[in-house]
Amino acid sequence: MNVPVFAGVGLAAGAGLLAWAVRGRSSQLLAPSIWKGPTDRKVIALTFDDGPSESTPRILELLAQYEAKATFFQVGKNVERLPGICRQVIAAGCEVGNHSFTHPRFDFTSSQFQMDELSQTQAAIEKACGVTPRWFRAPYGVRWFGLGEAQRACGLEGVLWTVIALDWKLGATAIQDRMLQRVENGAIFCFHDGRRTNAAPDIRATIAAMAVILPELRSRGYELVTLSRMMNRFPS
Ligand SMILES: [Zn+2]
Repeated sequence: MNVPVFAGVGLAAGAGLLAWAVRGRSSQLLAPSIWKGPTDRKVIALTFDDGPSESTPRILELLAQYEAKATFFQVGKNVERLPGICRQVIAAGCEVGNHSFTHPRFDFTSSQFQMDELSQTQAAIEKACGVTPRWFRAPYGVRWFGLGEAQRACGLEGVLWTVIALDWKLGATAIQDRMLQRVENGAIFCFHDGRRTNAAPDIRATIAAMAVILPELRSRGYELVTLSRMMNRFPS
């Protein structure tokens, strides 16, 4: 009589482990990913996903105003639509990372599909701005069997986040409160300057929140840097 019970428990535990392996920010099982940096310095890495978008230049202006650099995880399709904005990000001294070509969920996808998504994005970014990305962030933070190999084959290192802003659904004040409560050395903050592959996304809440978060972080003495700078990788 106990067998089905144990089998059920085993199945539930297995499902829990798989869910964590796929989406857990500290999970290294399916594709290695960092989610925080060194804690011995007052440094934070700001990251922006799903661009480039028509509104990305406004984020670049705010970053410049507060002497901040950031890493932009761009979607290949958006890069093909707005290559000039991809170039503007690089010209501003910021870093461009790979966020897939069509912004899919990678669970239950084939190795070939994963490889195509990552390599097409590398090619689109190289063509747009002449720089080869070194960092990859999986859309929705979802990783799957084979994704680690695709990352390695493309020369990419995985990165998730310490705190995600939920800025696709929260208002500016809620975004500010959420992020400023989680300020700590070595944090990787995740915002959005786009919305998947949508053209002309509405990112006004993110922009309004950044106008408050950036001066506040600077006044608290934080240096705002790219991921490569924070992790001391890939110095150019
Ligand atoms: Zn995304």
